[in-house]
Amino acid sequence: MRTSVRAILAWGLSLLLAAGAMALWQQQALVRQLEEESGALNRLVSQRAGQHDAHLTALSAIASASAEPARDLFLEVASTITHFYPRIDDVQLVALDPRGPVIGTGPLAPGVADRVRAAARASTGGIALMPYPGRAHHYMMIKRSPNTPEARHGLMLGIDAEKLLDEAGAFWRRPGVVLALSMPDGRPLAGQAHPAGAVRSGRVIGSASQPLVLETGLDVGWADRLPLAPTALLLALVSLFYWAALGAWRQRARARAVAEQARINALESRLAHASRVNALGEMASGLTHELTQPLTAILAQAQAGKRLAAQGRGAELESVLEGTIAQARRASSILERFRDWSRPRPASAAAFDLRDAVRNVQALLAPKAASSGARIEFSVPGEPVPVRADPVEMEQAAFNLVRNAIEAVEGRADARIAVDLRPAAGRAVLDVADNGPGVAAGIRADLFTPFSTTREDGMGLGLALSRRLVERIDGDLDLVDGAGPGATFRMTIPLAGEPTGEERS
Ligand code: ADP
Repeated sequence: MRTSVRAILAWGLSLLLAAGAMALWQQQALVRQLEEESGALNRLVSQRAGQHDAHLTALSAIASASAEPARDLFLEVASTITHFYPRIDDVQLVALDPRGPVIGTGPLAPGVADRVRAAARASTGGIALMPYPGRAHHYMMIKRSPNTPEARHGLMLGIDAEKLLDEAGAFWRRPGVVLALSMPDGRPLAGQAHPAGAVRSGRVIGSASQPLVLETGLDVGWADRLPLAPTALLLALVSLFYWAALGAWRQRARARAVAEQARINALESRLAHASRVNALGEMASGLTHELTQPLTAILAQAQAGKRLAAQGRGAELESVLEGTIAQARRASSILERFRDWSRPRPASAAAFDLRDAVRNVQALLAPKAASSGARIEFSVPGEPVPVRADPVEMEQAAFNLVRNAIEAVEGRADARIAVDLRPAAGRAVLDVADNGPGVAAGIRADLFTPFSTTREDGMGLGLALSRRLVERIDGDLDLVDGAGPGATFRMTIPLAGEPTGEERS
């Protein structure tokens, strides 16, 4: 769950990064295009402006060819110019003498004629450039004619600056693109003002007589930065790549985890095998040790019996044979108990009163305790202590504990054993405590392992078997205090409900 939230966050981040890169790239591409297009437009406008100079020169030549300008020729050339170059929509030849004629393609306001005269008089040879009074988007180019201090006329071209920008190219018609032409002093001539935040470039056009300023710009919006179709395609590709890469990565991680798990399993099974082999070895050596004694006794007795038989001592032979039988029984009982430990019979569990098991153990072992001189006290509660288990097995387990306790205190002056049964926290608790020497330190670690014994005639199977029987019904058997003086073993078994009448019978 956490991983997938993280994966989705990382996916979102990668989409953001991709969109950001796209926006940056698009903006840079647009700026580059703006620069290229602006350069081309500047060249076009400069070229057009250059034509104006040529027209002025030609018209001036006509005007100053004779003392009196050839009016018809002048007008014919002027109207050809205005016809083929529609941006030049006014051509005027103004006599510097206010009483002289004004020859032009249209009527000329007296105020404008005065301006032309003033500019021509002030000219030192160059071309004067100024806004056309009263006509929006227009400017005037004024030249004296002839171009000497003895000039008689002022020659004027009226130019529509908007038309100077005509047919600039498709780029300049796209939304967000701005284009403006202004006089050298900044007065606007054509186009519109730039919106704030637009990418802009301003350059003076390449004309000495008309140093107009061509300003271009681009208002880059989000729709330009992130055009719908390419952006959607990019995001889809990034998503595809992201999830494919993540899937492959996860697949590899899973494969690595499976391989690691397999390695651990192999390791564990090797360990388990080793520990089984070890346990088997220990048991085999324990079993060998236990069986050696009765088998040696049987061998010795059989050899003695053979000798007695050869000597015809029949009466003595009988007791030797009895000893042989006893040892063979002992060997068989060792094997039988070992089998019980290693392969416990399936328990026939039924709810029964654990007090009955304790009372049976009391009946069975009280005589042994008495003959060993031990004082044994049994304490059971007044109420039943119901557990679900095999009654015989529980009796066997309790029997082993009490018998061990009796053997531990044997021969002591003040030998005491306390057997206490009580219910506590949902479990039946049976404590068997004695005041013997306590459990030998060397055996404590392996107390419940088969063949752990300190007794001459012991087999070391009693505690191992008892624990196995108790654990099968989710109980516990442990040494709670064995440091001495005395040892206390505790057996706890889950309490069951009241035994049913059927189960009791
Ligand atoms: P066995 O009685 O055949 O030796 P057990 O499994 O019953 O086998 O006991 C294993 C060993 O545990 C005994 O040999 C003895 O050393 C120790 N032990 C058991 N109960 C007591 C006890 N109450 N006090 C001291 N040592 C004990």
